[in-house]
Amino acid sequence: MCRARDNETRRIRKGFSDRSDRSKIGLCYFCDNPVKKGYKVCEKHYQMNIEKAEKGRQTQAAQDYMKSVKKIQYRSVKK
Ligand SMILES: [Zn+2]
Repeated sequence: MCRARDNETRRIRKGFSDRSDRSKIGLCYFCDNPVKKGYKVCEKHYQMNIEKAEKGRQTQAAQDYMKSVKKIQYRSVKK
């Protein structure tokens, strides 16, 4: 009796942790919300991914900017 219930619980958990099945039934890759149309994630996680991507870009841009500033300073010192 107890074992049967355990197996049932495990089966359900396994089903939920299967990521490919989640997107097939229209659930977000990260949570249980319905997906945004045409995506594998919900609206919330879609926005979060965009924010992350933009932050990464900004950081890279900031690094490039600092590099170019240093180069300019170096050149002007050399002159
Ligand atoms: Zn989500």
